Amino acid sequence: MLIDRFNRRIDYLRISVTDKCDLRCTYCIPQGFTEFEKPVNWLSFAEIERVAGAFARMGVSRFRLTGGEPLLRKNLPDLVARLATLPGVSDLSLTTNGTQLDRFAYDLRKAGLNRLNVSLDSLRRECVQEISGKDSFDKVINSLQTARDAGFEQIKINMVPLPGVNTGDIEDMVAFCIANDFILRLIEVMPMGVSARGLDYFNLLELIENLRPKYQLHESKRVYGGGPAKYWESADGRFTLGLITPRSQHFCATCNRVRMSVDGTLYLCLGQEQSMALKPLLMANCSDALLEQAIQQAVDLKPEKHEFNEKPDKIVRIMAKTGG
Ligand code: SAM
Repeated sequence: MLIDRFNRRIDYLRISVTDKCDLRCTYCIPQGFTEFEKPVNWLSFAEIERVAGAFARMGVSRFRLTGGEPLLRKNLPDLVARLATLPGVSDLSLTTNGTQLDRFAYDLRKAGLNRLNVSLDSLRRECVQEISGKDSFDKVINSLQTARDAGFEQIKINMVPLPGVNTGDIEDMVAFCIANDFILRLIEVMPMGVSARGLDYFNLLELIENLRPKYQLHESKRVYGGGPAKYWESADGRFTLGLITPRSQHFCATCNRVRMSVDGTLYLCLGQEQSMALKPLLMANCSDALLEQAIQQAVDLKPEKHEFNEKPDKIVRIMAKTGG
């Protein structure tokens, strides 16, 4: 088992398959950003499979593919099929902006993907365009419909509420999720990179106090995902809400994950710089034992907590680079 210095068990790996994205969300990739990883440095599918296999042998059972926009990586269903059949993998999910999902949903499901998170910050077309930089609304809505038809076990909507931009859209999004049987996940914006650090976050602990009576929400004991999001359920069981509150309430004591970027660098925390490059080991065709040793050494570097509130200017790495 992978245990870090703070006695946290690591059972979840997020794998970025590209740092590129077809959107430019205001809190993620800055307009004009060009410093994407060169394809020559990307891990191949075989290398990703090798690293995932090592993590699985070390007790990690949950894997998520992300980016950048993961569906921009060619032949992604092939990678899903490779990972889904690895011994020890019990949960394989994908986070996507939904612009390409319409084309791939059935293939991904057939390849063994269980769960999907689709990012959508508003149900107002102009607001989606304002945040993402593109008129992507229709594509995302079509994709959600296709994904439902493809039979995914669970579809979550990721929404980042930004004061003065889309916070007034939360209740419409709640109604949309109830009507379509989607789980809504609200995420406080994290100060990563130049574009996100200047943005105010919307305090979700305050929001829940307002939503609670309206939907008769109670804290859920069920497990909806691989991580520290807190879940709430409505009394009639028709609505589930997940809150990710890195700004208003630290959840670092229960952090169970590490992330791997497209070039095979392990990042131990979204809000700190510690990292370990695995690519040189993979290129040298190292033994399984050496790879596992490197993974344990990386986990030993995992810091106790982020410092998003104390040092909001600290992280220059954008979310798309680490793999959100
Ligand atoms: N392109 C995919 C997508 O849009 O879902 C996957 C990658 S994206 C980086 C993953 C998630 O990170 C999205 O839900 C996005 O809203 C969120 N995200 C990006 N930057 C963020 C930030 N600074 N703070 C909080 N969430 C952020």
